[in-house]
Amino acid sequence: MESSKTRTQTTGNLYLTTIQTSRDVSLYFHIPFCSKKCPYCHFFVLPNEERFKKPFLPALLKEWGMRRPQLQGKRIVSIYFGGGTPTKLSPMEYAVLLETVRSSEVEIASDCEITLEANPEDVSLPLMREFHALGINRVSLGVQSLLDEDLVVLGRTHSASRSVAAIREVHAAGISNISIDLMFELPRQSLSNWEKCLKALSDLPVTHLSLYNLTFEPQTVFFKKREQLLPQLPPEEDRLQMLQMAVQSLETIGLARYEISAFARTGAQSRHNTGYWTGRPFLGFGPSAFSYWDGARFSNAAHFNKYLTALGEGRLPVDFTEKLAFPSDLQELLAVRLRLVEGVDLQQFAAVYGPMPASFEASLEGLMEKGWAQRVGTVVKLTAVGQLFYDSVASEII
Ligand code: SF4
Repeated sequence: MESSKTRTQTTGNLYLTTIQTSRDVSLYFHIPFCSKKCPYCHFFVLPNEERFKKPFLPALLKEWGMRRPQLQGKRIVSIYFGGGTPTKLSPMEYAVLLETVRSSEVEIASDCEITLEANPEDVSLPLMREFHALGINRVSLGVQSLLDEDLVVLGRTHSASRSVAAIREVHAAGISNISIDLMFELPRQSLSNWEKCLKALSDLPVTHLSLYNLTFEPQTVFFKKREQLLPQLPPEEDRLQMLQMAVQSLETIGLARYEISAFARTGAQSRHNTGYWTGRPFLGFGPSAFSYWDGARFSNAAHFNKYLTALGEGRLPVDFTEKLAFPSDLQELLAVRLRLVEGVDLQQFAAVYGPMPASFEASLEGLMEKGWAQRVGTVVKLTAVGQLFYDSVASEII
């Protein structure tokens, strides 16, 4: 799906779609260890125990070695260590991993964004200094809330004051690009609590924020307890207001919404995540990691023994592959791209990927009639209402 053309800037503010070239790719490493599984979490995680950790890095390095030839002629523009809790691996282990990547004769952009996810309870100034020295230039902290009562509901093992201290420690260590995750629509969460939580952000050196509403995913403790928890959620009208309050409050402190659930200071938009929304190819490493490459999506086994066994036998640990055919591939790419507040320049999109199917025009008209999308010249973008009902927008397009 990736074009051989280099995208060029055609309109004033389409900064996100113009930062990549056809050679640009990203890497994702899934570090699955957690001290304790949070009751709402549906990610693939493993207990933070030596019997799992010991074979992990050698397996990851082996996977890297098998994938490396695919990166010939490509340029790595972002690397993301996600989890799980990536800080459960030591700086020494990251030194080995990063040195392997850097010495692999693959091109890494001089301004490559290298993100490490961390939980506030694991952060300390000396540790962050070590990560900074290794080239980590962005930290994403799982803050979730800045109120202790919310953190208790979420079963988190850190306090709000620990999160504040962690943000300051990351900053003091010289890592100025700091993202935090925040959750809303929580059991027993009120509008005034949410307001307090948002206000607590105001003097913190945060450059990026990802906002999530709590969902009840199968295989989680919260899903099993949903009959008890659902009645404790804020009423529907409060939930809408919470989102509006967040957008306004974050805007006031310089964090502008640039994607349905992402906010950033100017220039601090996540390069890695932007790749997901704009169809930049990426390779995922580690159990359960997803990849998107040559127009195909695939994922590694979300099972540690299967992951290790495949690599031990010299096979890639992939257990799911999907390649969408035209026009589904373009419809999906366009729907995902509409998550960006800047919208999509249809002319530019067609120049890169080829013309959209005729049915798309009808879907677009339908979205505009509902007041969910608007057209400004050749750019289509979602309205505030369309952003609110993004899932419905996407299903109309796909
Ligand atoms: S720390 Fe993050 S990845 Fe680990 S269980 Fe909690 S939410 Fe899931």
